[in-house]
Amino acid sequence: MFNTLMFKELSDVIRNSSKVVIISHANPDGDAMGSSLGLYFFLKKLGIAAKIIVPNDYPMFLAWMPSIDDVVIYDKNTTLAYEVLNEADLFCYLDFNTESRTGLMHNDLCHFSKTSKVLIDHHIGADFSKFEAVISETNISSTSQLVAEFIKYHGFNDYLDKDIATCLMVGIVTDTGSFAHSVDMTTFNICGELLSTSIDYKQIHQNIFDNSSENRLRLLGFLIKDRMTVLNEYNTAYIYASKSDLEDYKYQVGDTEGVVNYPLSISNIRMSVLITERQGAIRLSFRSKGTFSVNDLAKKHFNGGGHLNAAGGTLTNCTLEQAIDKLLSILPEYQKMLTE
Ligand code: 5GP
Ligand code: MN
Repeated sequence: MFNTLMFKELSDVIRNSSKVVIISHANPDGDAMGSSLGLYFFLKKLGIAAKIIVPNDYPMFLAWMPSIDDVVIYDKNTTLAYEVLNEADLFCYLDFNTESRTGLMHNDLCHFSKTSKVLIDHHIGADFSKFEAVISETNISSTSQLVAEFIKYHGFNDYLDKDIATCLMVGIVTDTGSFAHSVDMTTFNICGELLSTSIDYKQIHQNIFDNSSENRLRLLGFLIKDRMTVLNEYNTAYIYASKSDLEDYKYQVGDTEGVVNYPLSISNIRMSVLITERQGAIRLSFRSKGTFSVNDLAKKHFNGGGHLNAAGGTLTNCTLEQAIDKLLSILPEYQKMLTE
């Protein structure tokens, strides 16, 4: 099932390195943090010095993860991040496939075109030419599952422990919506093996999903009640959140994570969009049910991409109203696909 030649190539490159930096995408989610920390613990076991850098802060609901305090947050600690990048002989890119997904960090990464790079990712459209070794499996649940398979290739008996299993489980459970989508036999098999380390799955799930502030839950209620528009003629719903909406509910990083999924619970809704006003840009999150590709739509119209059923994009130099107008203006192009 998995291409062991790719695992071997990646393993060889990693074992020939002495200082590895693991880098994940902007607005890091459970899979970004889970896969990065899982690989970090594994590299340490191999005796390889490793550091993790993410472009900006992770959501509060992940703050409990083992060794998460070791992660260097680029926008909070740019000087240190640059030093770490400078000393490394290998960059491991995890859970993204184009460098622009590193947001503010992208400019600095451009200074390191000579540093060797490897990629572990599950998004569509990776450019393999930049990397010494690549694991890119777009049908697999999560980058965390790919890291788990990579560690398994070296032998779970020798390397798997509770910290690794906990972090990788976080990535798998968050990227599959608690095993609601993107799962297959390999996902359940590997999760069974992660559970064999006696990790407390119930506690992990609670730490992630029952860890909201009161403001976060009230923000969700407000957005669904007052900021959701259902367009039945397109089987589409969108929710918007302005900067002041977010301020009213004392927005913390990660507070809108998951909001985009709720409109899909309406039976006829095939596509859901969350449009949020961020510092100087408009972020869009797309989700779909069935065969409708939000990856294609995000790529074509919103400078983004992702997966068939989950994608994101960004519009710069644009107001929230203009972003909504843009979405409304392109919907007729997709009406047939969304309604047939
Ligand atoms: P989210 O809506 O949770 O931010 O992202 C959904 C999925 O699309 C994730 O797998 C994420 O990695 C991917 N994604 C989000 N934003 C972008 C983007 O701007 N470009 C690309 N290529 N993928 C994105
Ligand atoms: Mn992922």
